[in-house]
Amino acid sequence: MKDDDRDLGLDARITRKDFLNATLLGAGGALLSSVAPSWAYTIDAGAHQSPAGTDAWTGYGGTGDYAKANGNTKPVMDAAHRVRDRAYATMPSATIDTGETYDVVVVGGGIAGLAAAYTIAKDTNRAKTCLVLENHPIFGGGAKQNEFDVRGSRLVGPQASNQFGVPREGGTAITSESWADFGLPRSFAYQDVDPSAGDLKIPLDNYAHMDGVNEQQVDVAYYFDQSSGASKPTWLKNIWRNELADAPITPEVRADLLRWRKTVPETTDDFRRRLDTMTYAEYLEGELKLSPAVTRFAAPIVGLINGAAPDGVSAFAAQQIGMPGVARPRSQTGPLPQSFPGGNSAFARHFVKWLVPDGISGAAGLEGVHNGRVDFAALDRKDQSTRIRVGATVFRVEHQQASGAEHVVVAYELNGKPYRVTARSVVMASGGGMSRAVLVDMPADMKAAYATFQHAPALVVNVALDNWRFLHKLGAPCVRWFDDEFGFSANIRRPMIAGARPAPMKPDDPAVLTFYMGLCVAGRSLTEQLTLARKRLTETSYADFERLIRRKMTTMFGGVGFDARRDIAGIVLNRWGHARVVQPPGFYYGRNGQPAAREVVARGYGRVAIGHSELGGHQSATGAMGQGQRAARQALKGI
Ligand SMILES: Cc1cc2nc3c(=O)[nH]c(=O)nc-3n(C[C@H](O)[C@H](O)[C@H](O)COP(=O)(O)OP(=O)(O)OC[C@H]3O[C@@H](n4cnc5c(N)ncnc54)[C@H](O)[C@@H]3O)c2cc1C
Repeated sequence: MKDDDRDLGLDARITRKDFLNATLLGAGGALLSSVAPSWAYTIDAGAHQSPAGTDAWTGYGGTGDYAKANGNTKPVMDAAHRVRDRAYATMPSATIDTGETYDVVVVGGGIAGLAAAYTIAKDTNRAKTCLVLENHPIFGGGAKQNEFDVRGSRLVGPQASNQFGVPREGGTAITSESWADFGLPRSFAYQDVDPSAGDLKIPLDNYAHMDGVNEQQVDVAYYFDQSSGASKPTWLKNIWRNELADAPITPEVRADLLRWRKTVPETTDDFRRRLDTMTYAEYLEGELKLSPAVTRFAAPIVGLINGAAPDGVSAFAAQQIGMPGVARPRSQTGPLPQSFPGGNSAFARHFVKWLVPDGISGAAGLEGVHNGRVDFAALDRKDQSTRIRVGATVFRVEHQQASGAEHVVVAYELNGKPYRVTARSVVMASGGGMSRAVLVDMPADMKAAYATFQHAPALVVNVALDNWRFLHKLGAPCVRWFDDEFGFSANIRRPMIAGARPAPMKPDDPAVLTFYMGLCVAGRSLTEQLTLARKRLTETSYADFERLIRRKMTTMFGGVGFDARRDIAGIVLNRWGHARVVQPPGFYYGRNGQPAAREVVARGYGRVAIGHSELGGHQSATGAMGQGQRAARQALKGI
């Protein structure tokens, strides 16, 4: 092992090492060009459990229900690539017919798929049978969580979907109805901060700090170095509170950034349609005449939430996520955005608890569902109206006639073997990247529309910290930086309380530091941006990402007492190959008088209804529920 790696703690005895002793050698060799295998054997993993089935690309997955399901794991990705590469261009003769027939088969067990299953059960008083097929080892899709056990503390962080809003009480939308069915409270308590930590303002979720809007309410430290205009590396706190007076930028850029933040755009339908004819970069620089430095400042946020750089996404898409210049300035004093302990994995878990009550141990409600454990066998038992089959990658969905009646055959791969079931109707809640590959009898117009969808990757990293003294010393629980080396922001949260009230947070306590990032870099065509971003996501080994994270944290935090070897207790990577559908100009309202591709896809065909959050454009948990419900009702009409 190189001295540099040792300094960074790559050989330290930490929770993430569990998987290495068991699986590093021989696994994913091609991906591990820069890893010296000898060091894997130097580690004493004795204190830790080694989750079976992890590999050197997927890396350590944490503990608990999600230990083998951190983002797109290698087995999930390999199975998906077999479908993409047409390994199932024809139905394999060895396909095992399970003999099962369901009223509805739902493909995809994310929030949209689970909301579809909920709608089917609720609308029919559980009279119709439904099978949910999900390719990951656990349900949830982008709404999953990572768990760590550090010095006896159970730490939980989101794998992707994280922020939620409380729906209107008594409303009839699925969000309100399910909220009531799940017995969720209307307000939540969050862990207090110990007075010894001073008056530190810690957010409740992982987005509040990103664009400075909530900076009156949360503390954000910005790292400037030579590449971002400072003469030497410097931390500056809460730069928006004094209108960027201390930031190392020119007066012109400062004036433009402030104008960007204060712009009050029109709210007419004409304006929205016009926004969808140009990119966000074109709007900022062409219409508002703002400096390209403003576009660069916005780029990582747009890259994360819209999926590509501002020169690749519709200005309307940027408006959907509340970006300045195109959306009305947001309140800087309203309630802070909220997050469940594992982000929106809570919604997925509550749907499952309602659908299969003993699929999660313990009582219903916030505390029970958060602290219960998934009983995987219970999810897919005979004789229950809803069954959830995980680890099942659907590779073919096809209408067939039998005895004069039409039905749909749904074929999937499970543990390396092909199976088929029969459905009266199908809901595709799996996202366009996969759906268009498995819907083999799609009509031509839908096929053409689906072919235009492009998907962006994202990476979410949860770093379990032994302590967060370095952030306390910095005076900020949230950090933001400006180079393209690795990510752009990270933060710890005040965790939501879902059980006994814990002692207030202290800097000596363990915590989860979460990094969210898109991977696109501006200045290339959208297709090139996405190809390069996906290449980086798929071709970087766990060990190389780990090294990068340790180095980045050491560079930024070394001066405030951070020691990677001592302070990192675990690292989980959540790689999302198809995190977002990218919304280029025309995605929302179509082009040249033609309907938008998403509208064509949403029509469905035959006995197949299509409902995934991406059909709404900007993806959200609420949107996913709405799409799942719409598609489920369409599917029910056909049977
Ligand atoms: C990094 C990130 C952060 C986000 N943050 C937020 C947030 O803070 N708040 C918010 O509201 N939303 C957020 N979102 C949006 C998020 O996508 C939605 O909230 C919601 O989780 C999407 O649900 P879905 O069911 O539509 O899609 P998905 O979560 O994509 O679920 C689809 C499921 O289908 C499975 N599948 C695909 N193909 C197959 C196949 N062939 N066979 C079987 N199964 C298959 C997939 O693996 C997946 O599990 C975020 C998304 C990302 C990527």
